[in-house]
Amino acid sequence: AKRAGGHTYALFESRMNEGVQEQLALQHDLRHAVERNELLLHYQPKIDARLGRLQGVEALLRWQHPTRGMIGPNVFIPIAERFGLINGLGNWVIEESCRQMRVWADQGMLMSVAINLSVHQLRTEDLVHRIESALTRHRVMPSQLLCEITESVAMEDIKSTQRAFEELQRIGVYLSIDDFGTGYSSLSYLRQLPARQLKIDRSFVADIEVRPDARAIVGAVIQLAHQLGLRVVAEGVETEGQRDILLALQCDELQGYLLARPMPEAALGVWMSQQAVM
Ligand code: C2E
Ligand code: CA
Ligand code: CA
Ligand code: CA
Repeated sequence: AKRAGGHTYALFESRMNEGVQEQLALQHDLRHAVERNELLLHYQPKIDARLGRLQGVEALLRWQHPTRGMIGPNVFIPIAERFGLINGLGNWVIEESCRQMRVWADQGMLMSVAINLSVHQLRTEDLVHRIESALTRHRVMPSQLLCEITESVAMEDIKSTQRAFEELQRIGVYLSIDDFGTGYSSLSYLRQLPARQLKIDRSFVADIEVRPDARAIVGAVIQLAHQLGLRVVAEGVETEGQRDILLALQCDELQGYLLARPMPEAALGVWMSQQAVM
């Protein structure tokens, strides 16, 4: 395979090794990220489309690496999943989000927080117990916690997802299907899952102003979701045009840079006080 263009191949191989080296280095550091206190959550507001009020926040994981700076989840979550570190990170997210909800509750705020779960977490036996234990210890109501699972992941392992969803529903936690529209599943399939919310993937929202077909799809998804008793959230709302169309299509909640970016807890406090004045 190396005969022609051996040089190119060697170059490719060395680049590939760099990629592998890079991943190995990161996974090595990632193993200590929790104990070294390098993880943090940023919170992105979700806004009630009709009332314009804060509906809750989504917790998004960040890694403050000692030398590389802030690393986003699109980089390190796949590495964590590949190297068996995702449950450790996921458990930290459960713990930290419940701790933060208690801090807000002590300030008189009943904040709903959505966390993202990996399929590996859904497959572990003790996920539900962990969540229940964190809620109890921090004295947080289960209905304040929303668990988001990506559609493609849910459909890939429908059995694990269904079992986990049913157990989580039993303890009173709410469930959400994330990135809907990317997994090629039908809405009728979703009837098998006791979800409360559906999040329309950003790619549809991005096209909604320019492509009539995207707009039609989003409109149909919202109507069907409503008939199934699901609340619909549009993610990645960046323009006023997108917001207006989503409002007209009766989308329930909006999330995106137009409304607010993900931010650390302190900045969220400032953001909320500014909202109150407006
Ligand atoms: P996601 O759950 O679909 O989260 C939405 C992503 O879109 C976030 O990226 C958010 O910062 C970004 N976003 C929000 N509004 C806009 C917008 O208006 N325009 C654009 N272009 N982007 C917007 P982020 O924080 O980099 O997270 C990426 C993905 O990493 C998440 O996608 C989620 O799948 C995963 N992730 C994040 N935190 C966790 C976690 O604690 N556990 C697990 N398992 N996965 C996580
Ligand atoms: Ca999400
Ligand atoms: Ca999403
Ligand atoms: Ca996504």
